[in-house]
Amino acid sequence: MTGYGQRWNKGKKLGAAVHEEPYAQAMLDLAIERANGRMIKNVRLGVGRFSAIVPTSLELFFSFLSRGTPAQGADLIFETIPVTLTCRHCRKQITLDIADDQPVQPVLARHLAQGCTCGAKKLDIIDGLTVEMISLELL
Ligand SMILES: [Zn+2]
Repeated sequence: MTGYGQRWNKGKKLGAAVHEEPYAQAMLDLAIERANGRMIKNVRLGVGRFSAIVPTSLELFFSFLSRGTPAQGADLIFETIPVTLTCRHCRKQITLDIADDQPVQPVLARHLAQGCTCGAKKLDIIDGLTVEMISLELL
């Protein structure tokens, strides 16, 4: 199907540029709401290790989107949130300790394939997939 292929290609090209924008907007909205009219000095964000979010790109969108808002000029401080799995059977939590320069996927895939030490196979990813606001410092 030609039409589908074209759409996909277009989406792919745009993807690299706009991926972080909705996250930047969501964090900005949340920060402004919590600041309750005060100016924001910095925003500490937790970026999931398996989120595919690029902090520098998020920062760029944030500074662009925040112009004219109480978050204008605010610094973003990033923390990495590791991928955490939990066993559906025994509720044990497994936090994946993966170096910053190592890919997450092979380690995650291995854990998901192995399952839990209790023998259960079903593990859920409960952390490390998205971006969250940790704290806010106001001026
Ligand atoms: Zn278990």
